[in-house]
This record gives sequence, structure tokens and C-alpha cells, in this order.
Amino acid sequence: LLYNQVQDLKGTIRVYCRVRPFLSGPPDMQSTVDYIGENGDIMIVNPRKQGKDARKIFTFNKVFGTKVTQQQIYVDTQPLVRTVLDGFHVCIFAYGQTGSGKTYTMSGPDLTTEETWGVNYRALRDLFSTTKARQDMIEYEVGVQMIEIYNEQLNGLNVPDASLIPVTCTQDVLDLMRIGQKNRAVGATALNERSSRSHSILTVHVRGRESVSGSTLKGCLHLVDLAGSERVDKSEAVGERLKEAQHINRSLSALGDVISALAQKSSHIPYRNSKLTQVLQDSLGGQAKTLMFVHINPEADAFGETVSTLKFAERVA
Ligand code: ADP
Ligand code: MG
Repeated sequence: LLYNQVQDLKGTIRVYCRVRPFLSGPPDMQSTVDYIGENGDIMIVNPRKQGKDARKIFTFNKVFGTKVTQQQIYVDTQPLVRTVLDGFHVCIFAYGQTGSGKTYTMSGPDLTTEETWGVNYRALRDLFSTTKARQDMIEYEVGVQMIEIYNEQLNGLNVPDASLIPVTCTQDVLDLMRIGQKNRAVGATALNERSSRSHSILTVHVRGRESVSGSTLKGCLHLVDLAGSERVDKSEAVGERLKEAQHINRSLSALGDVISALAQKSSHIPYRNSKLTQVLQDSLGGQAKTLMFVHINPEADAFGETVSTLKFAERVA
């Protein structure tokens, strides 16, 4: 336990790994995840190899197996979310190949069922209830902003100029999300496709004013569902698709470069290399805190992407 606590306090960058369950298929399907340890270890096994060479261990702050619920995930996210109300800047990212569970972690599969709500709604609900509990001491104002970055271009989802919308309860945010979805310039089937090739950022801005001293604070929480990290086969992608893929690769590696430079306390942090890192610059580094959820699809076909995802995660951890 002590070891874990020390791990949690170390630095301002945390990496959690989440393995999604098999969605369907024969029950004897072989998982590429061989073992998950208590101290944040995950052992993967290459389905095409035998013996010792087939296995490799990676270590993160935490690893969540296939049976971990949305609520359990939030328990380990909440302390970070709460610091926003004390004036901290926090970024929470979901990284992984398309279909690995990023949107499940951040939004959940279905907005109508609170039980399966993801980090986004749980965080908002939590922020609203905590501001209420503290209202005699601190008066808070909360605003949200929804943006999408597609092909290195920034688009506001709720309103054309991506402005800040004041909100007072979780329902306000859910309503805004629905408007945002409608405003996306694509149809319902295209939406999934498009969302896997764009980064979507839900930002919660918090302003607080202490009743007695009159002193003020500002915090913000960025909840980022990243574009799918899968490598696109260059021989197959052409035109628009190739351009998208290049933008995604570039911005995800720029993000990795920034976080690993921060982790190594490097004197130069390369924020300027992508729109994503430019937009988040104020919330990456300094006093800011970062949590990266990396997602694993345990199916044999996904093994190659699983290895790249874990390598990315290891580099930023
Ligand atoms: P991504 O956003 O990375 O493309 P999704 O979040 O859409 O992936 O997940 C792909 C599918 O897997 C969806 O049908 C989703 O509901 C399901 N899924 C993902 N993670 C889990 C989980 N932890 N438990 C149950 N189903 C999951
Ligand atoms: Mg998604």
C-alpha cells in the first residue's frame, strides 16, 4: 500500500491502463493480457510466439482489468478532479486504438444510464456537489467549453466560436453535449468514424471567490478523448484519409513528446508542434496535473497496436 501511495505522489503525471472486455465471440478466445498485478503491472503475451520471449511486463501507476466498473475507475480519478476546485489545472486523456474503450471511459456507452456514466459526467456531478457543499465559504462559477480538433483545425461544438457556457448542474452539461453532437457537421453513422479521427476536448473552467477574504482562484479540467492511435497502412490510405492519418500521428507524438519532456523535467517543452499541445499548453506542466488512461483491446488481432500503446504509455509514465 505504501508503495502505491508513494507512486501516486511521485510527480504530476499519472498513467492508468484499462483493459476492455471481449465484446463477443467464442468464450475460449485467447486474451493477449496474461496477468495484471496489484502494483500496476501488466503482462502481455504475443499470440504468435511461444515461451519466455512471448511475454513482456509493463508497469504503470494502476492497471484496471476487464471487470472494473465505471464507478471504480472514478474512485481513482476523483482526487485529481477535486483539485480543480483548489485552483489547479488538470488534463485527463484517453489514449488507445479505435475500439479500445476511450469513449467508454470518458463518456460511457449511454448517457441515459447513470450507472455507466464515464469520467466526464461523474467529474461534473462531483464538481457541482462539492461546490454546493462549500458554498458558504467559497462562491464558485462553472463554465464548460467543447472543442474538436480535426486535421489540426479547431472547431467549437456547442457554439461557433467555442465560447464558454455557464452551467449550474450536470443536466445543463448533458443538454449542451446533445447540442454539440447535433452541430457536428456529419451524420450519425459518420459521427463514430469522424470521432475516432478527431480529438474532442470538454473543458470545465472553475472560478472561486472566498467569502471572507475575497481572494479568488481559477482552476480548469480538460477531459480529452483522443483520436484513435492506430497506425494507418500507408499503402492503403490515400487523399483525405492519408492526410487525417498524418495529422493524428503527428499530434499524438507531439503530445507524447510534451509529456515525456515534462516527466524528464527537460528545460525545453515542445508545445508548438501540434494544435492539441498548443491548446492545452497552460494545463500541461508547471503546477498542472496530468492523468493518461491508456486503453487495451485484448484481442489477438490487436496485439501489434497493444504493444505500441503500451510503449507510448511507458514513455510518458
Ligand atoms: P473507442 O472510443 O476507443 O473507439 P469505445 O469506447 O467506443 O472505443 O469502445 C468500443 C466498444 O467496446 C463499445 O461498444 C463499448 O461500449 C465497448 N466497451 C469499451 N470498453 C468497455 C468496458 N470497459 N466494458 C464494457 N464495454 C466496453
Ligand atoms: Mg471513441
